[in-house]
Amino acid sequence: MAVALAIQPGLFVDAAPVQADLAPVAEREESAVTPVALSDVPARITEMIPSNPLKAGMDQNMMQVVVFAILIGVALVSLPGQRQRSLLELLGSVQEITMVVVRWAMLLAPFAVFGLLAQITTRLGLDALLGMGLYVLTVVLGPALVIYRLFTGGSVRFFMRAARDAQLLAFSTSSSAAVMPLTMQTAEARLGVSQATARFVIPLGTTINMAGTALYQMVATLFLAQVFGVDIGLAGLLLIVFLAVGASIGSPGTPGIGIVILAMLLGTVGIPAAGIALIIGVDRILDMCRTMINVTGDLVAATVLDRKVEASIGAEPEGAS
Ligand code: ASP
Repeated sequence: MAVALAIQPGLFVDAAPVQADLAPVAEREESAVTPVALSDVPARITEMIPSNPLKAGMDQNMMQVVVFAILIGVALVSLPGQRQRSLLELLGSVQEITMVVVRWAMLLAPFAVFGLLAQITTRLGLDALLGMGLYVLTVVLGPALVIYRLFTGGSVRFFMRAARDAQLLAFSTSSSAAVMPLTMQTAEARLGVSQATARFVIPLGTTINMAGTALYQMVATLFLAQVFGVDIGLAGLLLIVFLAVGASIGSPGTPGIGIVILAMLLGTVGIPAAGIALIIGVDRILDMCRTMINVTGDLVAATVLDRKVEASIGAEPEGAS
């Protein structure tokens, strides 16, 4: 957020043609475009608890779906094994079918991205590309700084060399779920994480730890706020942090999902979701970068947790004696 506020990439895109271009779509969404006041924050948080889960699904209200899924998940694990099995098997099949359909849809993505990028360039000119370039830089720079900070003091080189294969595969597939087996292998064989920790942290991290996606959603929201001249204020900024982290937990590790969820978040802070049209052209590149960050984050979490567990096990007998 600090990087996005410092660079202000949105100011490098000439807002007038963008707004004119997106006006017909944005007008339809006008009711959603209301800036958030600090006093609204508690109400926005209570709104996340669904009174009708089916309606939440129909309205694509991602936060309500996430809260509902957490409740069902907690209830499910509290049941005896026999009772859980049939629902888990059904949900497993539903997930696999969804992944197949998403993979089919993603076959079209390169052509769609080419078309969108060509359309934006011809309509808005090369200046828009400069602004978009800065936006890409801002998204990539944020995670890079975070990773750097996480590793100062540790052996960054060793980690990066060990994690390289998983990161490269994440970069090229844009799917942390697809990379999961290699992430697990990297953690165990190259980073020396114990099997127990790796097999617990990596699958959990692949599902809920989406640091790159959350960072991206935050930068993208600020970028679009700057383009559309929306003053989201302190309350809006806090809400974005909260929503981006929450929504990234609900994002599956598949290509392009971050921007779909972003579209649902924008209205909450008063930005027209039509702005997605502006950033979708460069989304594939950002998806590759954020997936790499997501996978790196899982490896960092597994390594840190394993060292901590090791240290506490090592310290135990001493303390006991
Ligand atoms: N592609 C990302 C992942 O698999 C999710 C996203 O679109 O942000 O981790």
